Amino acid sequence: MSTSLLYHGFGIQGYHYVRTTCNDGQVIFSIKPAPFSLCCPICGGKDLKHRGTITRMFKTVPIGAKAVFIQLPVQRVQCLCCNAIRQLKKFANTLASHAFGILNHYDYPISTGPLEVTNNKIKTLQRQAYGF
Ligand SMILES: [Zn+2]
Repeated sequence: MSTSLLYHGFGIQGYHYVRTTCNDGQVIFSIKPAPFSLCCPICGGKDLKHRGTITRMFKTVPIGAKAVFIQLPVQRVQCLCCNAIRQLKKFANTLASHAFGILNHYDYPISTGPLEVTNNKIKTLQRQAYGF
């Protein structure tokens, strides 16, 4: 998985992919905020002091029969402009903006998997035939 897939697959912007962990029938994608993307959720100021993280798990659309979670260390920051200490809300707002599409998957559990397999086979055949 790549940072590009975070955006195109899950609609997550401003975060980098770290690793994938598979255990107990679950897939966990770990992500982290992109550097320089942090700002105060109240005044929008960029002059921040880091005050630790809280790891949160967000359940998202399953892959096949496996539950998928996105693990994110939510950064706590102290704004030096307004002196507020807050958790960043950007990720929660991103999920909220895509909630309709994500929840639609539970009503209509269709997948483009078979189509992707066919496209992958066609591209593999083209590559193995060296363009013929
Ligand atoms: Zn502020």
